[in-house]
Amino acid sequence: MVSLYIIMAETCSFPEHFIVLFIIISLLITVGKLNPWPKSLPHEILSLDIATRLRFDHHATRVASSDFGNLVQLIPAAVLHPSSVTDIVDLISFSYNCSAPFSVAARGHGHSVRGQAMAHNGVVVDMTSLNTDNDKNGIRVSGSPSLGFYADVGGEQLWIDVLHTTLEHGLAPVSWTDYLYLTVGGTLSNAGISGQSFRYGPQISNVHEMDVITGKGELLTCSKHINSELFYAVLGGLGQFGIITRARIVLDKAPKRVKWVRMLYHDFSAFTRDQEYLISVDGMDYVEGSLTTNHRSSFFSLHDQSRISSILNNHGIIYCLEAVKYYDDDSILTVDEVLRSSPQPINLPLAY
Ligand SMILES: Cc1cc2nc3c(=O)[nH]c(=O)nc-3n(C[C@H](O)[C@H](O)[C@H](O)COP(=O)(O)OP(=O)(O)OC[C@H]3O[C@@H](n4cnc5c(N)ncnc54)[C@H](O)[C@@H]3O)c2cc1C
Repeated sequence: MVSLYIIMAETCSFPEHFIVLFIIISLLITVGKLNPWPKSLPHEILSLDIATRLRFDHHATRVASSDFGNLVQLIPAAVLHPSSVTDIVDLISFSYNCSAPFSVAARGHGHSVRGQAMAHNGVVVDMTSLNTDNDKNGIRVSGSPSLGFYADVGGEQLWIDVLHTTLEHGLAPVSWTDYLYLTVGGTLSNAGISGQSFRYGPQISNVHEMDVITGKGELLTCSKHINSELFYAVLGGLGQFGIITRARIVLDKAPKRVKWVRMLYHDFSAFTRDQEYLISVDGMDYVEGSLTTNHRSSFFSLHDQSRISSILNNHGIIYCLEAVKYYDDDSILTVDEVLRSSPQPINLPLAY
């Protein structure tokens, strides 16, 4: 088998590292450490500079073939752990120029629920590999007279890190997800929804511009003015129109303090009526609704918790409204007044 590779290498004049990698991979396949070489992937991929950052082993492909939902399993041929944006450009250009291009999918934190970040027989790009401790450029906070404050953020960055970095400047993104251990590229490929969306729109409505690697392997900057079709396709595009490598996110002054109210309901009509009321009045900074069949929270007093349990036993479900008002030293005296004007749920606890 090895002699065949050497003949092939002589006739095709591939670089030396390609021959060595090819031999090593073939040996590992023979001893069962790697999956059989996938038909979908041309051997020439091993001649690229990124070859040493491609993983073909069972562990890497298994991780990339599952996600938070655990409903779908699609095994990729390989996983790329890029060390730079150029690595991703090289991979996609290579696929685009192949006679039979293979699929490529970006994977952020893998919190999709139906295999959206998987690439069957293709290559999954593990975006988090770009997020190294040495990467001081992953989140950069700036401002300009025309745009106000903003942060240039790598697509691989987690929102929790965006929050920590921007808070050092007294700033924060205006629109969030509830759970912050998600990547910027991952949520901008969906929508990014939370309790601020009623005021500012989802996260995809709060992006000035992005750098995107297209399906041809071009790295383009896009915004509503430049390459606007790409901009609007990529936002909410589930990774189908390009890979986001940088996004310029809208920032505003971070709230100094917040007052947080939770209201519980067993009547769905009352719950939706009050939710509509809260988003229609001027003053609330965060409004979100949820439902639960199993309420456990230290938010409520022990007395209220037993009331909640008995209501759950009777009705089987509880609806929860959360409303938040930002305030600071200047508005400290008026904040309670604003919250008192919010609806008071009947028969059920209201907790601050
Ligand atoms: C516990 C939990 C809490 C959640 N909370 C919220 C919430 O409060 N609000 C909300 O809106 N959503 C929420 N979600 C849903 C979440 O926003 C999406 O699942 C999101 O896609 C997860 O981001 P991720 O980094 O894990 O992306 P992944 O699951 O890795 O990828 C998601 C999609 O984005 C693509 N993608 C990933 N990175 C890039 C990139 N750089 N460029 C282009 N495409 C890319 C992938 O190919 C895939 O199609 C939650 C999910 C979970 C599991």
